[in-house]
Parts: sequence; structure tokens; C-alpha cells
Amino acid sequence: MEATNPATGEQIATYDEDDEGDIEAKLRTAQSTFEEWRDVPLRERERLLENAGEVLRENKERYARLMTEEMGKPIAQARAEVEKCAWACDHYAEYAHAYLADEHHPSPPGTEVKTVHDPLGPVLAVMPWNYPFWQVIRFAAPYVTAGNVGLLKHASNVPGCALALEEVFEEAGYPEGVFQTLLVGSSKIDGVLRDDRIRAATLTGSGPAGRTVAETAGNQLKKTVLELGGSDPFVVLDDADLEAAVETGVTARTQNGGQSCIAAKRFVVHTDVYDEYVDRLVDAFEALTVGDPTAEETDVGPQADPDLMAELHEQVTQSIEAGATVVTGGEPLDREGAFYPPTVLTDVPEGCPADTEETFGPVATVYEVADEDEAIDVANDTRFGLGASLWTDDRERAQRLAREVEAGCVYINQMTKSDPRVPFGGIKDAGYGRELSEAGIKEFVNRKTVWTE
Ligand code: NDP
Repeated sequence: MEATNPATGEQIATYDEDDEGDIEAKLRTAQSTFEEWRDVPLRERERLLENAGEVLRENKERYARLMTEEMGKPIAQARAEVEKCAWACDHYAEYAHAYLADEHHPSPPGTEVKTVHDPLGPVLAVMPWNYPFWQVIRFAAPYVTAGNVGLLKHASNVPGCALALEEVFEEAGYPEGVFQTLLVGSSKIDGVLRDDRIRAATLTGSGPAGRTVAETAGNQLKKTVLELGGSDPFVVLDDADLEAAVETGVTARTQNGGQSCIAAKRFVVHTDVYDEYVDRLVDAFEALTVGDPTAEETDVGPQADPDLMAELHEQVTQSIEAGATVVTGGEPLDREGAFYPPTVLTDVPEGCPADTEETFGPVATVYEVADEDEAIDVANDTRFGLGASLWTDDRERAQRLAREVEAGCVYINQMTKSDPRVPFGGIKDAGYGRELSEAGIKEFVNRKTVWTE
């Protein structure tokens, strides 16, 4: 396995993939550790998670540099990601026992009926490279604290991050086997998922990867949580605070090089403010600093991988050929590394790639709509349904429209973001299940009914 710096094209390191013997040993360790870990008191599991948060903070700079090297995230954003991981650890360290408390139910006199929450066992996690620390901590913090053990199959381009995450759990004092990294390519996943010792799976990534894992898991009757792609609308109505909607819109589309499932991808703008909004958005896109991800002032680094950038550019090219107007950007930068400029497309024809597919890079498509009904129609005209952002000064209007949006979450006068306190997940082709908050920690537990006469 190879890690390559997408800003320079240089190879950083190579790693030996796990062979069949290694995989079997890790599965065995996962199973035997689970038998003991499930009986460790919840308070102790919370304490270890608090340690994990401390380990993350202590090593923030090193972990941030590793992410920046392996997938090109601007260094300031990489540090923020490590901080956010530590926050998620703190959150579950504080709240897990409340989230997992027994639930008491109405019952006949003299009878006690309750639900208790038992862990399921070893959980396989297939994770992507775009937030290489956050996506992993987001599943691991709740699931291992609930008494499960985790086996991580990370994306093949971030093996250093995968091993660093294993180190976080080791240094925090977890028993060996509570969290293990499998250094394998995706072809090995089917066999691991079919193994009886794996009880459930979670995947964050593309639709095709999600469908493949869900198919096998379905056949094996194992529960899955899928967090797949999105093409989130960012709806700007006629009474919106335009300055804020531009400033936040730019961050929502371009942070992490635009490689975020919940990035604002389709800007749906009321005709009364359309021209002004597009002008301001384009000015703001052009003012961004694109370049060296290790530089503090960089807003947009390279795309994580030259092949993924080529796919993005193909989507843009095909959309322009179909009739879209490119207002800014639209061509890879003429320099070393996988650099794509912040790009704005308007007059986007129905059915072209920028209209119907997820664009995983700093490419905004902007739609002009006549009124709020058309805005909701355009917002919902997608096979995805992850998040949405709505901009209006009228709170009552916002609440009403929020209910009409087909998405797992709607953020009003704010960009869509994940937060450990709040459920996160999608509908339609964005996947199913919820991560984070109480909903997340309860995805992989046996909600066991205990009836006592
Ligand atoms: P993938 O879905 O291919 O990769 C995500 C993870 O799934 C990786 O660990 C990958 O392993 C694994 N994987 C891929 N195919 C399979 C399979 N058939 N069975 C089991 N595991 C599999 O995403 P890409 O990195 O190729 O990105 C492509 C597109 O996916 C992006 O353009 C974007 O649209 C979407 N995406 C969405 C993300 C999100 O946060 N929702 C995150 C990343 C991507 P390996 O690396 O070894 O192939």
C-alpha cells in the first residue's frame, strides 16, 4: 500500500498489506477482546475515551501533518479536524451512560419491563479518506464505548492515518483488540464481512461501495449504517442576509477542497437576488488562496487524488458541453499536483453531471428560481438526501420550508455540519441510519427487552 502526497505527487511511504493470516489473527483478537470488553463497566469505557481525547490533543500537530501529507487537507483545517475528534471523545465520555441508560416501559402492576442496551460484537468500519480522522472517530467513539470492538478498513490512500488511529487507542490505554486497523484493499472486505465474528458494518463513502457492502451484509443478515454521498442544496431566498449567505456558502462549498459529503453543492437562488448573489460568490471564490496545503493561509489545497480530480474535471467538461456556463474556474491549475480551482457553473442544463451527480471538489452549480415553491422543487430534484441549508430572515417561513426538504438534516442560516450532539445521516441515495448523538450510539446495540414478574 502506498501513500502519495497529492500536492507534489511524491511517494511518502509504503506499507505491507495484511495477508489472510493477519486478517484471521485480527478477527480472532477482536472476538476474544469483545468477550472481555463487553463486561468492562461503562464508566471505565468512558474514562478510556476521555484519555483518547487527550491523546488526540497532545498529538494534534503530528496527526494534522499526516492528514495534510496523505490527502492534501489545508493544515489549519487538519488541526481543526483533530480538535473535533477530541470533542466527540469528550462528548461520549460524558454522555454515553445517559444515552445507554435502561428505558422503563408502562407495565402491568407488580411487573417491571425495561430495555437494556447490550453491545453486538466486532463491527467492521469501511471509511473514506476525506476526513481521515473524523470519519473514524465518529463511529469508534460511540460504538466501542457501547461495548463493541472496531475493525477499521480505511481508504487505501491514507494508511498512515489508519495506523495513527490505532495508536490513539493504544496510547489511551485500551485493551489490545478494542480498535484494530486492517491494512487491506476493498477486495478483501467481502470475506471479512461474511465472517461470523463480524456482527455489523458501517460504511462512509460512495454509493457503489455502499451498495456492495449492504448487499453482502443483507445476505448475511447483519445490520449496516451507510453514510454515502450528497448533492446538498444551499437555498438563498429573497429575504436572506446575502453577505452571510455568501461568506458561509463559500466555506460550505470549498472547505476540505470541496471533498465533503455535506458540502453545499447546488446553490438555489431566488431570482430577486440571483445576479447579486452570483457576483458576490464569484468574487469570493476568486479571492480564495489555492495552493500549498502546509501553508497557514491556504484555503483550498490539492484534490486528494489525481484520478478523482480527473473525474471531477470530466463532470465539469461534460456539463459545459451540455450548455452550462463557467463563470470562474473550470480548468485544472497549470502546476504540479492535483489542484482544481474554485469553480462556479450557471445555466446548468437538467440532466448534466453537475446537475445530477455528486461533485466531490470545489465546484458550485447555481440555479435561478422564481419563488420558494420552485426553490423547494429544485432542492429536492436529486437522488441524494443528506443535508440542506436554507437562508431567509423569516423564521416561520424557514420552519415551514424545512419540513418540505427531503434530507436528513436542514440547517437554517447556517451551513450543514456534523456535531457530536446531533444526529447525522441521510435518506434516499445518501444512505440510512444515523451517526452521532444518542441515535448514533444506539445503532449498534441489542435493545434487549427484560420483563420481570
Ligand atoms: P469509495 O467509496 O470508493 O471509498 C470509500 C471506502 O470504501 C474506502 O475505504 C474504499 O476502499 C472502500 N471501498 C470502495 N469500494 C468498495 C467495495 N466494493 N467494497 C468494500 N469497500 C469498498 O470512495 P472514493 O474514494 O473512490 O471516492 C469516490 C466518490 O465517493 C467521491 O467522488 C464521492 O462522491 C464519494 N465519497 C463520499 C464520501 C462521503 O463522505 N460521503 C467520502 C468519500 C467519497 P479503497 O480505498 O481500498 O478502495
